[in-house]
Amino acid sequence: MSTLSEIKTFSKPLIANLNKLGINTVPALLLHLPLRYIDETHLTAVRDLRVGEAAQVEGEIVHTEVSYQPRKALITRLAEASGQLTLRFLHFYPSQIAALKVGNQLRVYGEVRSGFFGYEMVHPSCKVVGEKTVMAETLTPIYPSVAGLTQASLRKAIATALNLVNIHPSAPREYLDETLPESVYQPFQFPSFFAAIKALHNPSVDADLQGLENKTTPAWRRLAFDELLAQQLSMRKHYAHRRSVDAPQFQPSKQLVSALLKSLPFALTQAQQKVAIEIERDLAQPHPMQRLLQGDVGSGKTIVACMAALQSIESGWQVALMAPTEILAEQHYRKMLLWLRPLNIQVAWLTGGQSKKDRALAMQSISNGSAQLIIGTHALFQDAVQFKKLGLAIIDEQHRFGVQQRLALRKKGQPEPHQLMMTATPIPRTLSMSYYADLDVSVIDALPPGRTPILTKLVSDGRRDEILQRVRESCAQGYQAYWVCPLIEESEALQLATANDTYALMQNEFPELRVGLVHGRMKPAEKQAVMAAFSAGELQLLVATTVIEVGVDVPNASLMVIEHAERMGLSQLHQLRGRVGRGAAKSTCILLYQRQLSETATARLKVIYESNDGFAIAQADLNLRGPGELLGLRQSGVPMLKIADLDRDAELLTQAKAIADRLVNDCPMEVERHLARWLGRVVELVKV
Ligand code: ADP
Ligand code: MG
Repeated sequence: MSTLSEIKTFSKPLIANLNKLGINTVPALLLHLPLRYIDETHLTAVRDLRVGEAAQVEGEIVHTEVSYQPRKALITRLAEASGQLTLRFLHFYPSQIAALKVGNQLRVYGEVRSGFFGYEMVHPSCKVVGEKTVMAETLTPIYPSVAGLTQASLRKAIATALNLVNIHPSAPREYLDETLPESVYQPFQFPSFFAAIKALHNPSVDADLQGLENKTTPAWRRLAFDELLAQQLSMRKHYAHRRSVDAPQFQPSKQLVSALLKSLPFALTQAQQKVAIEIERDLAQPHPMQRLLQGDVGSGKTIVACMAALQSIESGWQVALMAPTEILAEQHYRKMLLWLRPLNIQVAWLTGGQSKKDRALAMQSISNGSAQLIIGTHALFQDAVQFKKLGLAIIDEQHRFGVQQRLALRKKGQPEPHQLMMTATPIPRTLSMSYYADLDVSVIDALPPGRTPILTKLVSDGRRDEILQRVRESCAQGYQAYWVCPLIEESEALQLATANDTYALMQNEFPELRVGLVHGRMKPAEKQAVMAAFSAGELQLLVATTVIEVGVDVPNASLMVIEHAERMGLSQLHQLRGRVGRGAAKSTCILLYQRQLSETATARLKVIYESNDGFAIAQADLNLRGPGELLGLRQSGVPMLKIADLDRDAELLTQAKAIADRLVNDCPMEVERHLARWLGRVVELVKV
């Protein structure tokens, strides 16, 4: 693909600046699309200005002064036939004062405000009008840029590239040629790719400004569609690739699974049975499973994972179960020992925190194959760990891991092991149709029976005393409680200090209670000791940071207080809240917030207050924060959508999905060209 240096008129500094924007090729430059537009095609008379709207005004400078009241500002007054306009600059250079000298004819563009002297503009863009000054004929695009690269140079560079491919007969047409058969985009009445690109860089005089800004014009929709289609196609290729890779085949278990189920004090829910069958079928296939098992907190994913593990073990293959924290890994370990020891399954345990000797023993049992199920943290995928025969990798809370880590675990098997990923963060439909389209998804959509719903309360921090009283009463009745410290994302040191302070306060407040503390900076052994003590009921109140967010299961804990709830993400709050309501007792989650709440903070807390449904919460989170935040996609290796918006373009997504199916079979050449344009030549994506 052509580099920018092929355009002779591009200087080195210009190319360097473009590179900073991530633009390395001519096609990438052409796909660098405007953020918004301004209308400089006509002048507005001062008389017709409207407060709050942007306008272009031209007039003669009748006054300029540097004023010091109320603070330093450069003030200029423009006069034209219908009235006067004040310009105010709070930062300015001597050169600007010179340009704004009385008598000059000035053209300005900016938002109109009402000021002391009538209409005014603060920091408008200004142009001294000379003989050569012309009026813009089209809306002026404003691009994302970097320091040192002006809008004017960026516009010129894009115009050069557009002209080059437009006029120059020998220019490689691939830049702007259609990648898609006409039959694909015609039914939507979309413009051609070239027409779309041109319409966005140089919109016509009568272009629909609002549509351009909302990205709802046919040109924007065409490109959003192309982008979504590229995503669908690449996902499909990954999927097809996976089907061509070998994996060990495990026949459905004949003994172990039914023996396990018989030993349980409960029966599987229908939802659990359904997903268990989906997984059982996948494992019997000759290519690697990559299935995402999704189920709200407490829906019972662990037992389903355990059934999959037994199917592999019964076929003679090892299973790895990886969790993001030691606390969680430890909890899985204890549960698996309980469930699997009676079946004579060898369970091993590997974490960063264990002693050298234990670790060596574990490593040995993993490499000689005597360990059948290995549970651990990140330690599991390190180089030194050699599996004898890894057949299935199970990853709990998958979004907590980076793509490289998941990949590293997969590489530990030969042939490629099956992979089961679990998450309690539900995936809204548009997300699973797009970013997750290359995975198979199973959903546990109902909770086991007998759970009492959690009561959520929003309480302002001013009523703290009442809440402390509430903790006292609850513990006096024999229940346990969590007190979650405020999240301080920007500083780990401060987070630690806050946790310690809160712990001291609670000990002071409740001399009659046994209070524990758990936070992310404790040594793994210390953490485990505290969790074990809480689990065993030796501690009544546990002060904790968000490390307890995932998976922790203490059924006797029925009260949770979360400080500064407004600072936390919705899905995070939902996860935290899921730590209570695990037993039969009626559970309460109290969200303490600090006044005054911003509008978004209020909206978010309202969602969590009103809903106990992980799906609805995830959807709201997606709308409020975008897909990157929700699922940690930033580290997942899937390119983010730049033009398309899953919410606005949901219907285009559905269309792109259907068309991708068709194209993959009918037009392989077009598919390649389309992917090359949108994802670059290297379509070899690293994926989940
Ligand atoms: P999660 O999906 O959040 O990982 P777990 O697997 O930890 O949930 O299950 C939560 C609790 O529910 C555990 O104590 C588990 O043993 C129990 N459980 C799982 N399935 C059922 C069921 N079908 N009926 C009753 N309790 C169940
Ligand atoms: Mg779990």
